[in-house]
Amino acid sequence: MVVAKCKKCGKEFPSPIQFDFLSFQTATIGNNSAQCPHCKKITNISKANLEFK
Ligand SMILES: [Zn+2]
Repeated sequence: MVVAKCKKCGKEFPSPIQFDFLSFQTATIGNNSAQCPHCKKITNISKANLEFK
């Protein structure tokens, strides 16, 4: 599962964009945004704050 780390509160949540492991390695993830379920803020989703778990 791909988890995103909120840039506002620093908590992790399941990314709205999911990849399998190989696609995640090679994917270019540009400027996407998602609402953090913890602080309800819109946070930017990029490869820098996504992690495959
Ligand atoms: Zn948050």
